Order: sequence, then C-alpha cells, then structure tokens
Amino acid sequence: MDVSWENNEYFSQNEPSTMDLEDRMVSADYHEEDEWENPLRPQTLSEYIGQEKNKENLSVYIQAAKQRGESLDHVLLYGPPGLGKTTLAQIIARELGVNFRITSGPALERPGDLAALLTSLEPNDVLFIDEIHRLPRTVEEILYPAMEDFSIDIMNGKGAGAQAIHLPLDHFTLVGATTRAGQLSAPLRDRFGVVLRLELYTAEELSQIVERSARILGISCSHGGALELATRSRGTPRIANRLLKRVRDFAQMMNNGMIDEKTAKESLTRLEIDELGLDKTDRRMLKAMIEYYGGGPVGLETIAAMIGEESVTIEDVYEPYLMQIGFLSRTPRGRLVLPAAYKHLGIAQPGQQSLL
Ligand code: ADP
Repeated sequence: MDVSWENNEYFSQNEPSTMDLEDRMVSADYHEEDEWENPLRPQTLSEYIGQEKNKENLSVYIQAAKQRGESLDHVLLYGPPGLGKTTLAQIIARELGVNFRITSGPALERPGDLAALLTSLEPNDVLFIDEIHRLPRTVEEILYPAMEDFSIDIMNGKGAGAQAIHLPLDHFTLVGATTRAGQLSAPLRDRFGVVLRLELYTAEELSQIVERSARILGISCSHGGALELATRSRGTPRIANRLLKRVRDFAQMMNNGMIDEKTAKESLTRLEIDELGLDKTDRRMLKAMIEYYGGGPVGLETIAAMIGEESVTIEDVYEPYLMQIGFLSRTPRGRLVLPAAYKHLGIAQPGQQSLL
C-alpha cells in the first residue's frame, strides 16, 4: 500500500497552543513527539482492538465492495482525538488493497489544492481528510460533485474569458474524520454513505492495547501493570501508549525495566495522574468551578478563561471523558459539576453539608 502524506506541516498545525507535553501527558491531541506511535498502529481490522460493532460493519462493507470490484462508499468517522480514526482509515485502505492519501481540512486552503489531489487518485483509492469540519467553504463545494458524481468543474482562465472545464474522476472513497460531527454542513454530512461514531475504550480493551504496544516496543509489562495504565488513560489509546512510554522510564530506574502494578501506580502518581486518569488541569478546572461558581452551571468561555485553555480543547479533549465518568454534565445554561466529582476530589457538596 502506498501511503502519502500530502502536507508535512499538517501535524504541526494541530499542536495544542499552550500545552506543554510534560504537563499534559493526558492530552489526547497529536504532538510531534508522538511520531514514535506509527509502528504501534494496527495494520488490519483484526489487529484493531475494540470498536467491535464498527469493525463488524466495516468488514462487511469492505468485503462487499471488493467482491463487486467497486470503490467503498464514503465513510465519516467521528469521535474525540486519539481514538483511532486515522488508524482505521489507513486500515480501510489496506484491507481494500488500494493507496492511502492523507490530508486535512486546514491544509486544503484553495479549491485547486483539492482538485490536484483528486485528479491524482488511482481507481478506488482512499482519500483521508482529517478535521474535515475545518475545510474552507470553497473547497467543500468542489467536494460535493466529486463525492456524488465523481467529477469536478474547474475554472480555466480569468474574468470574462474564463471557462469551466468538466473533469471526470476515477471512483474513490473519501474517509473524513472529525471530532465534531455537529459542525459539518448538512450537504457534506449527507454525502457519506457510512457514518461511524468511535467510542471511548474500556479499561480491558486499553490494557490489551498497552500489552500489544509493550510487545512491539520490547517493554516488559505485566497484565496488572497494563491494566493500571489502562484505567488512567481516559478511554483513549493515544494516551495509553503515551503513558506506557513514559512509565517505562520510571520502571527502568525503579524496577529493572519491568512495569508491574506497583511500578505503574508509583510512576503515575509521580506524573500527578490520579487513579481515574485526571491530571492537574482537570482537577484545577473542576475545583475552580466548585470554588468560584458553586459547581455551576458555568459557561464554556468562562471555564476556558479560568484555566487558560481554548474552549475547543475543553470540549474535544477534557469533557468527553469527564462526562463519561459522570463528573460533568452539559446543560443549556453551562457546565455542571456532578456529585461523583465532589466525592473524588474530597469536597463536600453544599446541599449535603448539613447532612454530614
Ligand atoms: P485519531 O486519528 O482518532 O486522533 P489515531 O488513529 O492517530 O487517532 O490513534 C492514535 C494512536 O492510538 C495510534 O497510533 C495507535 O497506535 C493507537 N490506536 C488507536 N486505536 C487503536 C486500536 N483500536 N487498537 C490499537 N491501537 C490503537
């Protein structure tokens, strides 16, 4: 399979603005330092752990398209960062036996950028557009006929003499990924035949991912150690792999390189990641909401200002996990800290104080 990266600047554009990797071990965003994770990417659907329902369905669609000798229907993958969208897109291409081309919404600045890419595809190739919700409007408009009729209209020349040229394209599969399906325009969303939502992983699935990564990287890690890392990874494979790499350093100094439950616990405590995977920033955010706003509802922008973080990062990276574990809820009037978070932080809830 030929894999080509259409824009090397892409990942640096995606780096979180203010976050220092050291501080944000549990950020699910891609950092350039995560380049090492490439060998850890599963290559086939059977190697891809978890997301069972999505895998089963995809496998049927892929086999059916292959049998018919046609391109696979366009696929939209959505869910928080680090859950395996890029990995799955790459697997789709590999399972189809076609080339994989990767780009992103912000990297496609002009219609011509997309036109050049589309006309260079070979029959049934997979074109992966990450952060597809950030595609400029003018570029998105080229995508509609390309997805639907496999053709594009491009303008040749300027002013009154400009001529529209109709270009037929080879059939291809667009795989779009987004953290925010709600921001996709309806015409774009409707052109995807397959829409898959990726879910946060269970601790058991993440421990399998950690054990697999440990084997690939030649790290000794017991099942107990893997499970300890897994429970503190916020349901996110990227974080699990990152913690594994960091804890390896502690294990080397503390336990002859062996990551067992005790070493994992001690290392993660030193990294200030608690037993639920919350780090300093999560705790600071929840505590500030409790201390200054009685637990909420607090508006997103206010929270962002309080912790010096961008609101999109809060929505995409922090909240999905905090909501999943029942620490936070989104209400029409803002974010609300839930009783489980008070309990975890050891703070008495105002209403319950009198009961104590
Ligand atoms: P996204 O595109 O959703 O941000 P990626 O596909 O880049 O996420 O995945 C991040 C890393 O997590 C990958 O490098 C891969 O090693 C690992 N990973 C993701 N999903 C899985 C999975 N289902 N099984 C094993 N490893 C996974």
